[in-house]
Amino acid sequence: MTSEVHRPPLPETFEATLVGTRPVTPRVKELVFERADGQPFTFRSGQWVSLVLPILDEKDRPLRRAYSVASVPSGSPRFELVVTRVDGGRGSTWLTDAPVGTRLEVKGPQGMFHRLAEAGPSLFVATGTGVAPFRGMIHDALAAGGDTPLWVLFGVRSPADALYREEFEALEKAHPRLRFMLSMSRPPPEWTGLRGYVQTHALGLWKELAKQGRPHAYICGVKKMLLEVREVLKKEGGAERQQLHLESYD
Ligand SMILES: Cc1cc2nc3c(=O)[nH]c(=O)nc-3n(C[C@H](O)[C@H](O)[C@H](O)COP(=O)(O)OP(=O)(O)OC[C@H]3O[C@@H](n4cnc5c(N)ncnc54)[C@H](O)[C@@H]3O)c2cc1C
Repeated sequence: MTSEVHRPPLPETFEATLVGTRPVTPRVKELVFERADGQPFTFRSGQWVSLVLPILDEKDRPLRRAYSVASVPSGSPRFELVVTRVDGGRGSTWLTDAPVGTRLEVKGPQGMFHRLAEAGPSLFVATGTGVAPFRGMIHDALAAGGDTPLWVLFGVRSPADALYREEFEALEKAHPRLRFMLSMSRPPPEWTGLRGYVQTHALGLWKELAKQGRPHAYICGVKKMLLEVREVLKKEGGAERQQLHLESYD
Protein backbone atom coordinates (compact mmCIF):
# COMPACT_ATOMS: atom_id res chain seq x y z
CA MET A 1 0.00 0.00 0.00
CA THR A 2 1.30 3.45 -0.84
CA SER A 3 0.58 6.53 1.15
CA GLU A 4 0.47 10.00 -0.34
CA VAL A 5 2.08 12.94 1.35
CA HIS A 6 0.34 16.20 0.54
CA ARG A 7 2.60 19.19 0.53
CA PRO A 8 1.71 22.69 -0.55
CA PRO A 9 3.09 23.44 -4.05
CA LEU A 10 6.46 25.20 -4.09
CA PRO A 11 6.05 28.96 -4.34
CA GLU A 12 6.81 30.58 -7.66
CA THR A 13 10.10 32.47 -8.08
CA PHE A 14 10.05 35.67 -10.12
CA GLU A 15 11.89 38.96 -10.50
CA ALA A 16 10.25 42.17 -9.35
CA THR A 17 11.24 45.81 -9.67
CA LEU A 18 10.76 48.39 -6.95
CA VAL A 19 8.62 51.00 -8.71
CA GLY A 20 7.63 53.24 -5.79
CA THR A 21 8.40 53.99 -2.16
CA ARG A 22 6.62 56.16 0.38
CA PRO A 23 7.13 56.69 4.10
CA VAL A 24 3.82 55.82 5.78
CA THR A 25 4.99 56.37 9.36
CA PRO A 26 8.33 57.57 10.76
CA ARG A 27 9.51 53.93 10.95
CA VAL A 28 7.57 52.24 8.16
CA LYS A 29 8.02 52.48 4.42
CA GLU A 30 5.59 51.30 1.78
CA LEU A 31 7.35 49.57 -1.11
CA VAL A 32 5.53 48.99 -4.39
CA PHE A 33 6.93 46.16 -6.52
CA GLU A 34 6.01 45.13 -10.03
CA ARG A 35 6.60 41.75 -11.60
CA ALA A 36 9.33 42.18 -14.21
CA ASP A 37 7.57 39.77 -16.61
CA GLY A 38 4.36 41.85 -16.53
CA GLN A 39 2.31 38.84 -15.38
CA PRO A 40 -0.45 39.43 -12.81
CA PHE A 41 0.67 38.91 -9.23
CA THR A 42 -1.95 36.47 -8.01
CA PHE A 43 -2.31 35.94 -4.27
CA ARG A 44 -4.83 35.45 -1.52
CA SER A 45 -5.19 38.19 1.10
CA GLY A 46 -3.09 37.27 4.12
CA GLN A 47 -0.24 35.68 2.16
CA TRP A 48 3.39 36.82 2.20
CA VAL A 49 6.39 36.85 -0.10
CA SER A 50 10.02 36.09 0.54
CA LEU A 51 12.47 38.66 -0.82
CA VAL A 52 15.96 37.48 -1.72
CA LEU A 53 18.31 40.37 -0.94
CA PRO A 54 21.73 40.93 -2.56
CA ILE A 55 23.51 40.82 0.82
CA LEU A 56 24.82 37.69 2.52
CA ASP A 57 23.59 36.04 5.69
CA GLU A 58 25.84 34.45 8.33
CA LYS A 59 26.20 31.33 6.13
CA ASP A 60 27.17 33.40 3.08
CA ARG A 61 23.83 32.84 1.38
CA PRO A 62 21.66 35.69 0.07
CA LEU A 63 19.62 37.09 2.95
CA ARG A 64 15.91 36.29 2.68
CA ARG A 65 13.16 38.12 4.48
CA ALA A 66 9.39 37.55 4.53
CA TYR A 67 6.83 40.37 4.12
CA SER A 68 3.05 40.18 4.14
CA VAL A 69 1.40 41.47 1.00
CA ALA A 70 -0.29 44.70 2.05
CA SER A 71 -2.25 45.33 -1.13
CA VAL A 72 -5.67 44.05 -2.13
CA PRO A 73 -5.78 41.33 -4.83
CA SER A 74 -6.47 43.09 -8.13
CA GLY A 75 -4.92 41.00 -10.89
CA SER A 76 -2.24 43.66 -11.44
CA PRO A 77 1.49 42.86 -11.76
CA ARG A 78 2.00 45.25 -8.82
CA PHE A 79 1.94 44.50 -5.11
CA GLU A 80 2.65 46.53 -1.99
CA LEU A 81 4.62 45.74 1.14
CA VAL A 82 5.06 47.78 4.31
CA VAL A 83 8.42 47.39 6.02
CA THR A 84 9.27 48.48 9.56
CA ARG A 85 12.83 49.73 9.77
CA VAL A 86 14.17 47.64 12.65
CA ASP A 87 17.16 49.19 14.48
CA GLY A 88 20.22 47.15 13.53
CA GLY A 89 18.12 44.86 11.31
CA ARG A 90 20.10 44.07 8.17
CA GLY A 91 17.19 43.13 5.92
CA SER A 92 14.78 45.91 6.80
CA THR A 93 17.52 48.58 6.77
CA TRP A 94 18.69 47.48 3.35
CA LEU A 95 15.14 47.37 1.99
CA THR A 96 14.03 50.72 3.34
CA ASP A 97 17.16 52.31 1.79
CA ALA A 98 16.70 50.59 -1.61
CA PRO A 99 16.15 53.06 -4.47
CA VAL A 100 13.34 52.85 -7.02
CA GLY A 101 14.51 50.64 -9.88
CA THR A 102 16.01 47.98 -7.55
CA ARG A 103 15.28 44.51 -8.92
CA LEU A 104 14.94 41.51 -6.59
CA GLU A 105 14.12 37.83 -6.69
CA VAL A 106 10.79 37.09 -5.02
CA LYS A 107 9.43 33.74 -3.86
CA GLY A 108 5.72 33.64 -3.35
CA PRO A 109 2.99 34.08 -2.59
CA GLN A 110 3.22 31.80 0.43
CA GLY A 111 1.36 31.04 3.64
CA MET A 112 -2.01 29.90 4.91
CA PHE A 113 -3.05 32.92 6.97
CA HIS A 114 -6.49 33.57 5.50
CA ARG A 115 -9.82 34.73 6.78
CA LEU A 116 -12.25 31.83 6.59
CA ALA A 117 -14.99 32.98 4.25
CA GLU A 118 -17.71 31.00 5.99
CA ALA A 119 -16.57 32.01 9.46
CA GLY A 120 -18.62 34.06 11.88
CA PRO A 121 -17.63 37.34 13.52
CA SER A 122 -13.96 38.15 13.03
CA LEU A 123 -11.58 39.89 15.40
CA PHE A 124 -8.36 41.11 13.77
CA VAL A 125 -5.58 41.96 16.21
CA ALA A 126 -2.36 43.56 14.98
CA THR A 127 0.54 45.67 16.11
CA GLY A 128 2.61 47.80 13.72
CA THR A 129 3.03 46.37 10.24
CA GLY A 130 1.12 43.29 11.45
CA VAL A 131 -1.91 45.14 10.11
CA ALA A 132 -0.68 44.59 6.51
CA PRO A 133 -2.39 41.24 5.81
CA PHE A 134 -5.66 42.53 7.29
CA ARG A 135 -5.99 45.26 4.70
CA GLY A 136 -6.71 42.77 1.92
CA MET A 137 -8.79 40.51 4.18
CA ILE A 138 -11.06 43.40 5.18
CA HIS A 139 -11.48 44.72 1.64
CA ASP A 140 -12.27 41.19 0.41
CA ALA A 141 -14.79 40.56 3.20
CA LEU A 142 -16.55 43.88 2.56
CA ALA A 143 -16.65 43.27 -1.19
CA ALA A 144 -18.12 39.79 -0.63
CA GLY A 145 -21.03 41.35 1.30
CA GLY A 146 -22.86 39.95 4.31
CA ASP A 147 -23.23 41.39 7.76
CA THR A 148 -20.93 39.38 10.04
CA PRO A 149 -18.97 41.79 12.23
CA LEU A 150 -15.37 42.59 11.30
CA TRP A 151 -13.56 44.20 14.23
CA VAL A 152 -10.00 45.46 13.97
CA LEU A 153 -7.94 46.08 17.12
CA PHE A 154 -4.75 47.82 16.08
CA GLY A 155 -1.97 48.57 18.56
CA VAL A 156 0.51 51.36 17.90
CA ARG A 157 2.69 53.61 20.00
CA SER A 158 1.34 57.01 18.95
CA PRO A 159 -0.87 58.57 16.24
CA ALA A 160 2.08 58.90 13.85
CA ASP A 161 2.52 55.11 13.84
CA ALA A 162 -1.05 54.26 12.80
CA LEU A 163 -0.56 53.20 9.21
CA TYR A 164 -3.70 52.92 7.08
CA ARG A 165 -5.71 54.70 9.81
CA GLU A 166 -7.55 57.01 7.40
CA GLU A 167 -8.35 54.18 5.05
CA PHE A 168 -9.78 51.98 7.83
CA GLU A 169 -11.73 54.90 9.30
CA ALA A 170 -13.25 55.70 5.89
CA LEU A 171 -14.22 52.04 5.43
CA GLU A 172 -15.71 52.01 8.94
CA LYS A 173 -17.92 54.99 8.07
CA ALA A 174 -19.16 53.28 4.91
CA HIS A 175 -19.69 49.82 6.45
CA PRO A 176 -21.39 49.53 9.84
CA ARG A 177 -20.18 45.92 10.20
CA LEU A 178 -16.58 47.17 10.39
CA ARG A 179 -15.27 48.52 13.68
CA PHE A 180 -11.76 49.94 13.76
CA MET A 181 -10.16 50.43 17.16
CA LEU A 182 -6.75 51.95 17.72
CA SER A 183 -5.02 51.34 21.02
CA MET A 184 -2.05 53.56 21.77
CA SER A 185 0.69 52.68 24.22
CA ARG A 186 2.04 56.27 24.22
CA PRO A 187 -1.01 58.36 23.38
CA PRO A 188 -1.08 62.16 23.39
CA PRO A 189 -2.99 63.64 26.36
CA GLU A 190 -6.02 64.47 24.19
CA TRP A 191 -6.48 60.87 22.97
CA THR A 192 -9.88 59.56 24.03
CA GLY A 193 -9.66 56.11 22.45
CA LEU A 194 -8.17 52.89 23.82
CA ARG A 195 -4.87 53.02 25.68
CA GLY A 196 -2.19 50.45 26.37
CA TYR A 197 -1.35 47.16 24.71
CA VAL A 198 -3.83 45.21 22.57
CA GLN A 199 -3.45 42.33 25.04
CA THR A 200 -5.51 44.39 27.51
CA HIS A 201 -8.48 44.85 25.19
CA ALA A 202 -8.66 41.66 23.12
CA LEU A 203 -10.58 39.64 25.70
CA GLY A 204 -13.40 42.17 26.18
CA LEU A 205 -13.90 42.47 22.42
CA TRP A 206 -13.80 38.71 21.98
CA LYS A 207 -16.53 38.22 24.61
CA GLU A 208 -18.66 40.95 23.03
CA LEU A 209 -18.26 39.35 19.59
CA ALA A 210 -19.10 35.91 20.96
CA LYS A 211 -22.61 37.18 21.69
CA GLN A 212 -23.09 37.54 17.93
CA GLY A 213 -21.88 34.10 16.82
CA ARG A 214 -18.83 31.84 17.08
CA PRO A 215 -15.94 34.26 16.52
CA HIS A 216 -12.55 33.74 14.94
CA ALA A 217 -9.49 35.79 15.85
CA TYR A 218 -6.71 36.62 13.41
CA ILE A 219 -3.61 37.84 15.19
CA CYS A 220 -0.51 39.20 13.45
CA GLY A 221 2.71 40.81 14.61
CA VAL A 222 5.58 39.97 16.92
CA LYS A 223 5.46 36.69 18.81
CA LYS A 224 5.24 38.11 22.33
CA MET A 225 1.98 39.90 21.53
CA LEU A 226 0.60 36.93 19.58
CA LEU A 227 1.19 34.47 22.40
CA GLU A 228 -0.23 36.76 25.07
CA VAL A 229 -3.41 37.41 23.08
CA ARG A 230 -3.78 33.72 22.30
CA GLU A 231 -3.33 32.80 25.94
CA VAL A 232 -5.95 35.22 27.24
CA LEU A 233 -8.49 34.26 24.56
CA LYS A 234 -7.99 30.57 25.30
CA LYS A 235 -7.89 30.73 29.08
CA GLU A 236 -10.42 33.45 29.78
CA GLY A 237 -12.38 33.64 26.54
CA GLY A 238 -12.89 29.90 26.01
CA ALA A 239 -11.45 30.11 22.48
CA GLU A 240 -10.61 26.80 20.83
CA ARG A 241 -7.56 26.24 18.67
CA GLN A 242 -9.62 26.26 15.46
CA GLN A 243 -10.87 29.76 16.25
CA LEU A 244 -7.40 31.28 16.55
CA HIS A 245 -5.25 32.11 13.51
CA LEU A 246 -1.75 33.44 14.11
CA GLU A 247 0.96 34.93 11.90
CA SER A 248 4.24 35.59 13.67
CA TYR A 249 6.76 38.10 12.35
CA ASP A 250 9.66 36.79 14.47
C1 LIG B 1 5.39 35.52 7.50
C2 LIG B 1 6.11 36.81 7.86
C3 LIG B 1 5.62 38.02 7.39
C4 LIG B 1 6.26 39.20 7.73
N1 LIG B 1 5.74 40.38 7.27
C5 LIG B 1 6.32 41.54 7.62
C6 LIG B 1 5.76 42.79 7.16
O1 LIG B 1 4.76 42.84 6.44
N2 LIG B 1 6.41 43.93 7.53
C7 LIG B 1 7.54 43.92 8.32
O2 LIG B 1 8.05 45.00 8.62
N3 LIG B 1 8.07 42.76 8.76
C8 LIG B 1 7.52 41.58 8.41
N4 LIG B 1 8.08 40.40 8.82
C9 LIG B 1 9.38 40.44 9.53
C10 LIG B 1 10.53 40.45 8.49
O3 LIG B 1 10.58 39.21 7.82
C11 LIG B 1 11.90 40.66 9.14
O4 LIG B 1 12.03 39.76 10.21
C12 LIG B 1 12.08 42.08 9.65
O5 LIG B 1 12.06 42.98 8.54
C13 LIG B 1 13.42 42.21 10.41
O6 LIG B 1 14.44 41.77 9.58
P1 LIG B 1 15.92 42.39 9.71
O7 LIG B 1 16.85 41.60 8.87
O8 LIG B 1 15.86 43.86 9.47
O9 LIG B 1 16.24 42.23 11.23
P2 LIG B 1 16.74 40.96 12.03
O10 LIG B 1 18.11 41.20 12.44
O11 LIG B 1 16.46 39.70 11.29
O12 LIG B 1 15.72 41.00 13.27
C14 LIG B 1 15.84 41.92 14.28
C15 LIG B 1 14.59 41.88 15.19
O13 LIG B 1 13.50 42.48 14.54
C16 LIG B 1 12.30 42.07 15.15
N5 LIG B 1 11.22 42.29 14.17
C17 LIG B 1 10.89 41.52 13.11
N6 LIG B 1 9.84 42.08 12.44
C18 LIG B 1 9.52 43.21 13.09
C19 LIG B 1 8.54 44.20 12.88
N7 LIG B 1 7.70 44.16 11.84
N8 LIG B 1 8.48 45.21 13.77
C20 LIG B 1 9.35 45.30 14.80
N9 LIG B 1 10.30 44.38 15.05
C21 LIG B 1 10.39 43.35 14.21
C22 LIG B 1 12.54 40.63 15.50
O14 LIG B 1 11.94 40.35 16.74
C23 LIG B 1 14.07 40.52 15.62
O15 LIG B 1 14.40 40.34 16.96
C24 LIG B 1 7.44 39.19 8.51
C25 LIG B 1 7.95 37.97 8.96
C26 LIG B 1 7.30 36.80 8.65
C27 LIG B 1 7.87 35.49 9.13
